[in-house]
Order: sequence, then structure tokens, then C-alpha cells
Amino acid sequence: MKLNTALETIFRLNKDQKKGLKKLGIFTISDLLYYFPIRYGDIAKTSYISDLKKGEMVNLYAIATKIKAKKSFRSHLTYTEAVLEEPSGNKINAIWFSQPYISKMLKEGELFLFSGNVSERAGKLYLANPEFQIDKNPSVQKAGSLFRDSEDDFKKLLFPVYKETRYITSKWIYHKIKKILANEDFLESLKDPIPKNILKKYNLPTLKNAFFYLHLPKKLEDAEAAKKRFAFEEILFIHLIKSLEKKKYQESGSFVIKPEKKVEKDFLNSLDFELTRKQKEVLEDIKKDISSTQPMSRLLEGDVGSGKTIVAMLASLLTVSTKPKNQSFGKLQVAYMAPTEILATQIYKEFVEILGKKFGFKIALLTSKNIQKFPSKISKEESTKISKKKLLEWILNGEIQIVIGTHSLISKNVFFENLGLVIIDEQHRFGKNQRKALRAKPQAKKEKQEDQKAKKIIKKGLVNNDDILPHLLSMTATPIPRTLALSIYGDLDLSIMDELPKGRKKVITEIFNDIEDQREDVYKKAQKELQKGRQMYVICPRIFDADIDKERSLNVRSAVSTKEHLEKNKYFKKYKIGLLHSKLKKDEKEKVMQDFLDNKYTILVSTSVVEVGVSVANATVMIIEGAERFGLSQLHQFRGRVMRSTFQPYCYIFANAKTEKTLERLKALKEAKNGFELAEFDLQNRGAGEILGNKQSGVSDLAMEAIKNLKLVEFAQKEAKALVKDNKYRKYKDLNKRLKNIQEKIYLE
Ligand code: ADP
Ligand code: MG
Repeated sequence: MKLNTALETIFRLNKDQKKGLKKLGIFTISDLLYYFPIRYGDIAKTSYISDLKKGEMVNLYAIATKIKAKKSFRSHLTYTEAVLEEPSGNKINAIWFSQPYISKMLKEGELFLFSGNVSERAGKLYLANPEFQIDKNPSVQKAGSLFRDSEDDFKKLLFPVYKETRYITSKWIYHKIKKILANEDFLESLKDPIPKNILKKYNLPTLKNAFFYLHLPKKLEDAEAAKKRFAFEEILFIHLIKSLEKKKYQESGSFVIKPEKKVEKDFLNSLDFELTRKQKEVLEDIKKDISSTQPMSRLLEGDVGSGKTIVAMLASLLTVSTKPKNQSFGKLQVAYMAPTEILATQIYKEFVEILGKKFGFKIALLTSKNIQKFPSKISKEESTKISKKKLLEWILNGEIQIVIGTHSLISKNVFFENLGLVIIDEQHRFGKNQRKALRAKPQAKKEKQEDQKAKKIIKKGLVNNDDILPHLLSMTATPIPRTLALSIYGDLDLSIMDELPKGRKKVITEIFNDIEDQREDVYKKAQKELQKGRQMYVICPRIFDADIDKERSLNVRSAVSTKEHLEKNKYFKKYKIGLLHSKLKKDEKEKVMQDFLDNKYTILVSTSVVEVGVSVANATVMIIEGAERFGLSQLHQFRGRVMRSTFQPYCYIFANAKTEKTLERLKALKEAKNGFELAEFDLQNRGAGEILGNKQSGVSDLAMEAIKNLKLVEFAQKEAKALVKDNKYRKYKDLNKRLKNIQEKIYLE
């Protein structure tokens, strides 16, 4: 029996149980032991039947009587029923649903400690699914009606409570774990992946002790210590993996990008604004990185509207102003990947305006349906549509220096001549592998050309570029708290821009929860802005009305019905209203957005597709419908759309928050100074999953919880770095084994 032994080889499992375990993601002993209790039954205090109240979690000593396994006539569900009787004579029923086997575990007439929830049915209290332990040494005191002062003996009885699923109860898990932890051979074989010196340094329990502390704790402090250890373990390994990845990057070469000072100066002079202090700081980080022989791997976290595009543009300019290594001709190239067609197109236009028209670089747009190049043959001032074949050729021979696109950039047949810099915008929108793929283009090319072109490449003097990894600038407008960023993006260096350009006004945000009667008021206020010539966004959580009764869907206004509603509304009747959502064809979407940008529409009703990057400086009013359906961070991004100018922006939020918590969450939108505060809020109140989506990050709930603890994360990171340095980690056999397992898992994902 070992950690990786399959449970079905040691326990007899029926079909249903296997199904249940699969649902919980439990297959091996390790899975089971790493399945953490969600809480512990509080045994420190015992109650008496006469004092019980509905809804309480209680512990009580009682004798089990009238134990029966039964089957309900109507639902055919099986259950166990018993009458629990205190020596005083007070009685209460206990029911274990779907657990007929309980009847065999309980013993008629024996004294047990029961622990469970007091429920009520038809005016009668009963205990639902209580945990129980037999009292092995019933004393006179306990057995008599005076057993009130014997509680001390039982403080040590703590029940772990596990999240259940159909066919797998908390008790089942508990008993199986108990069995496993009673197996001496197994315990003997347990190897701790955390080196002893680290355990000692941070006073963490060993793996074996931690399993006992976690699943069979004598006191809550032990359970806490165990949880800390496992959180540390997980975060340590996350950091080890990230540090190793980083190290691998650092071992590859990269292009040294260090053009004349004049390039940067000319660029800054061409702008009609000055960079913010934060933009300058980030640029210094980037310049330092890309002028080194090691590839940059940097994550730029910048609040919505903080001006990331300009930073990316200057980094691009520096890159394309640089010649490839050992070459007196040609230019390095830049690949800029954005998550949506609209965004890629807007970035393309912005790049064309400056790097194309003012600096004369050749730029292309590559999306699944839209392929363009600047300049066209006929006009130096315009873009032209070209064929994909042609474009791919020009990217491969280096004719085109900057390619901006969507996922299309990573498709198999796109190869660069000398890819020097990869920029990924709104990087959280891409999967891990998509992000990696763009950067791996040179390797992919090398593999493909190994035979055919090798000679040619060598002849051209490109041999030195062989193991080159492009510099990477990853950008996100989703602010991520530091601890979380350290853990999830530990392979990247972090730059933060939490400052907006001068003159931006704070968005005046108002929240209306379940208050439909103030809608007209809001409309009136909005109309006042429109009369001044401003434009307005209206964001809706869905495209069409749900088919169910209109009554209910009123609260969840769809984009389509909202548009109809506004067109009839007395305040907005005279304005042209555009509609944007994902069901529109690409060209239609493009046109709507363009028309809004050109002020042909005064109002744009949209679903969340408007979320990313798109910049309309004249739009200063936003109404958000059904706000409770969006994440805080997403709402913050929407709101960022109206922060693009020096006019006073307004954001009116309509919500139908049912709980205090949801409302409080929305209120944070009003108070937070920037997105980082909101992210911190989400982290503390709803956990890291809210910010990242648990699935995407691949981090367990426990580690997510631990990520709130800055010290723990920092210590784990420090140890991981130390272990990776000089390959020290290789000395630790058990650590390496675990590392391999994790890497394998990641690889298979
Ligand atoms: P984001 O960080 O959300 O991607 P953008 O890069 O799109 O933001 O910038 C938002 C707007 O701010 C753009 O119109 C851009 O031209 C402008 N901008 C960027 N930097 C500055 C600055 N330093 N001063 C004034 N405006 C700026
Ligand atoms: Mg942007």
C-alpha cells in the first residue's frame, strides 16, 4: 500500500461509490488523504436534549435505542432511524438518510457521543446524519444524569467533516482514512517531499504527522498546523515549478535590444501627452530586460485605462529598430496577440497611426477573417487587404515587422524570420498553452525547417539565433493581488501600473439594487450628458430575453429588449442606438463598433463582448444592467470604458442582488480607488477563484485560501528560489519525485 495505490485495489467499492469518488476526484490513497475536511465537528462542548434548538450543531451523549434500517415508500430511499436516549430519560430521534448500514454500526443500548445538526420535521426536533463515536470508557458520572462535568475527557474527540457527494458520505471518507492511517507498513513507506531542514525552519509537521493532525486531530490547533503545512507544500511546489520554468527561459538566449536613444526620444515627442510616472517606471523595467542576453518574461498589470498600449508600442518600436544578432540587414519582428477581433483591429489601427505612418514600419493584421497590411502599394497612408498566403510569406521573410492578431497568430503555418518580442494583451483571456505557443514560434520553425532550410539559414549567418527565445511582455487589466500574482505567475517578473493618466476623473458610480423606480431618474441624468454631446454604453448580461415569463426577465434585461426599451423611452427616443453582441457576424460587430466610435450611434447597447480594451473617448456614461451577474473585476473593466477622456464619467449600476454579501460586493465598486483594491476585496471575501477562476489557475481551495497569507507565500517562494539556485533541489529525492509527478500532470493537462 502506497500513496499512489488505487483505492479500488484495497477497498471493496460498488459501482455507485466509484461514481461518487470519481466525482470528488478521488482515485488513489493520496487523493483521499489530500481530501481535506471542510470543518471539524466542535466537540469541545456537549449539550443536553432538553436544551436543543433547531439549526444548532450539537454534541450529546446518549444511548442508542430502537435502531432500524428503513425504506421510504414514496421515494424508495433507504435510511436508518434510532431513538437517542439520555440517562435522564429525555429522547430525540436521529435519522441517517441513504445510510442503511448505520444500523449495523450502532449498537443497541450503548452509550455514544453524537455530533450533528438539530433539524425539525412536523414540529419535532431530530438529529440529521449525526456523526458518532462509541464511548469506550463510560464512567459513572457520564452514565448518570450528572455527567455534566466529565466534558474534559471528550474535548479530544474532533470529527472531521468532509464535503460529501451522492454515494460518498463524510463518514465513509473518515472511516476509510482511519483505516489507511492505521496501516503501519503504509505509514512506514510515507516519504515527505518537503526537505527536513525546511520543515524544521518553519516549524511544520512532517507528512505523516500532518495526515494525523488533519484527519484525526486531537485539538484544533493541530488541524490548523496540518493545513498550514499542506498549503505551504502546495505553494512551495507551485513556486518550484515556476522557478524552474523561469530558469529554463533564462538559459536560452535572446536578442539584445538596445537601439539608439534617439528612437525613444522621437517616439515620445510624437505623442501629444507625457507618460505617467508609472509608465516611465515600467518602460525602464522593460528596457533593462530586453537589453540583456536573457529573454524578458514580464507581466504588466495595469488597471483599465492606465495606458498599457503605449508602453507595448514603445517596446515594439525598440524591437523593430534593432537588427538581428550578427546581421547588418533586416529587422527584428514583433508579434502582438489580442483576445478579440475588435481589439486586435483597434490595436492595429493605433500601431499604424504611429509606428506605421510616423516611423514607416510595415505592420499587418492577422485574424481569422481579416488580413490587412500597412502601407498599401498604392497609398503610403492606407492599409490594404491581402491574401493570407502573401502575408505568411512576408512574415516569414521578414518583410513585415509587426504582426498584430488574434489566436490566428499561433496557428501552425505562421513563422517569423526573426521574432524578437511577443506581446500578449489581456493575457488572462488565453490558455497557458496558447500563451506558450506564440513564444515557441522560433523553435517550431526550427523543427520544421531543420532539413529543408538548415543550410540556407547557416549560409545567411543565422546560426547564432538557434536557441533564441523571444522577449515576452504579457499584459493584463485584471489586477491581481501580489500574493496571488507571485503564486500564479511566479515565472514572470511583475510590473504594476496603478496610476491613471493625469486629468482622468474618477467615475461617479451609483448602485441601484432592486429599485426600479429610480430608473427614470437615471435616464434623465444620462440624457443630460448626451445633450452635451457625449455617448453612452448600456451593458447587459445576456443577448436575448429568456423565454420564460417576461415578468421575471425584466430584471435580467437582455441587450435586445433593452435596445427596444430605450428606443421607446422618452429620454432616448431621438438618439440612434447600436447593438453589439457575440451573435453578430464579425463584420457587423466591427461596423457597430466603428459607428459608435464615429459617433453615428449615441448609445451602444452591448453584452460583455465590449469588455476588452476598445477605446471610445467620447463615451462617458455607462449603465450596467443585472450587475450581480458579473464579477467585480469584470464590472471594473466595463467601467474602465468610460474613463478614456477628461470629461466627468458616470456609471449607473442596476442590480438585483438577493443577498447582503452580493450587495456589499457591488458597493466595493464605489469605494475602491483602483482595480487592485477590488481584487484584494474579492480575494479576501470570495477567495482567489473569484479573480482567476479556480479552473484556470489549477490551484486547490486550500492553497487559494493560503494565498491570503502573504508571509506564507513569501516564505514558500524564498525556499523555492533557494532550491532552484545551483540545482540544489536535485539532491532531494522525494522532492524530485513529487516534482516529476506534478510536471507530468501539467504536461498532460
Ligand atoms: P489600457 O491600459 O486599458 O490598455 P490604453 O493603453 O488603451 O489603456 O490607454 C487608454 C487611453 O489613454 C488611450 O486613449 C491612450 O492614448 C491614453 N493614454 C495613454 N497614456 C497616456 C498618458 N500618459 N497621458 C494621457 N493619455 C494617455
Ligand atoms: Mg488595453
